[in-house]
Amino acid sequence: MTSVFDNLVGQEHIIEILQSAATASRDGAQTQEMTHAWLFTGPPGSGRSPAAVAFAQSLICSNKGCGICSDCNAAKTSGHPDVEVIRTEGLSIKVEEIRELVTRVAWAPSMGGWRVVVMEDADRLTESAANALLKAIEEPGTRTVWLLCAPTLHDVLPTIRSRCRYLQLRTPSIEAVTQVLINRDRISPDMAQFAAKVSQGHIGRARYLATNETARSNRKVIMQLPMQLGSLASALQAAQTLVDIASEEAKATSESRDEIEIEKLQEAYGKGATGRGMATGGSKAVKELEKEQKSRATRMVRDSIDGALLDMATFYRDVMMVQSGSTETLINSDLSREVTTYAASAPASSSIKKLDAIMESRTHLAMNAAPLVTCEALMCRLAQP
Ligand SMILES: [Zn+2]
Repeated sequence: MTSVFDNLVGQEHIIEILQSAATASRDGAQTQEMTHAWLFTGPPGSGRSPAAVAFAQSLICSNKGCGICSDCNAAKTSGHPDVEVIRTEGLSIKVEEIRELVTRVAWAPSMGGWRVVVMEDADRLTESAANALLKAIEEPGTRTVWLLCAPTLHDVLPTIRSRCRYLQLRTPSIEAVTQVLINRDRISPDMAQFAAKVSQGHIGRARYLATNETARSNRKVIMQLPMQLGSLASALQAAQTLVDIASEEAKATSESRDEIEIEKLQEAYGKGATGRGMATGGSKAVKELEKEQKSRATRMVRDSIDGALLDMATFYRDVMMVQSGSTETLINSDLSREVTTYAASAPASSSIKKLDAIMESRTHLAMNAAPLVTCEALMCRLAQP
């Protein structure tokens, strides 16, 4: 029998917990014991939100989360009346959004089972939003289940996490990711292995690389940057290149989506009829949407820069491996010549400093530092011997 949990890679340790909770919840006598707030944590790409969505499906499906019935499908595509998936497009989730959400989900489930809210980025709650959410979690409707996702436990207020049942996802092994790419996405074994390895267990990133030639050529350009940091001018140029590539990547994904959304909204307000529809609220709604889209684009550029920095970090990690005499475990085996040359010319103590510099810049970016300035400062540090 198929199950929604089949899609979770390398997470056997939590699947069992989720399955038995879902089974118990179907048993009327144990409704009292159902945990009403869950917290899914795990590194990027480990699949915390797919895990939460799978759990939501198993709670509302009459067949234990079969993955094929109409309830399962509707829950996955945000079309189920009892399942809400909150995806944050902006940098933060505001208190008004949470208040509105809490009011909306206070109703009894329409199908008689559970009302489930999946919040993909609970780490992006503002403090006041978190407090509003806390109130809802403290006194949940008896049939409402909150599934919160965040990178780590520390990204969520202690008051919230103390009320959640906590599940930690693991980074799936490279072998497991390779197998999924081959079996599920029909990617050739060589490509699957390459993509899984350089993506370090991040399934989404691995699939994106394996199926997108532009992404692969962008990665090549990024991975050459460490070799091009000979002067201040070239360091600044490298920063510009990195930000340009990230912006292009983000633009390519968001542009077509933006257009479709505006088109739909205009249709809803009666586009073309220059008449009252657009005048009374239509153009205001379009402006609102454009604002949201802009905020989403900003976040996508940041995410894309972060991905590029993680790629660069694997280069210095490889250099460190070579400097310590181990060449068999290179992440970037396609760059072994570059890595070896670099390792021979750089002092052994510098790689760890460079890795630190990259991780610091990622933290700054996550705290809304300006992307170009942050990358310029980073490249200048990486340019030092
Ligand atoms: Zn189902």
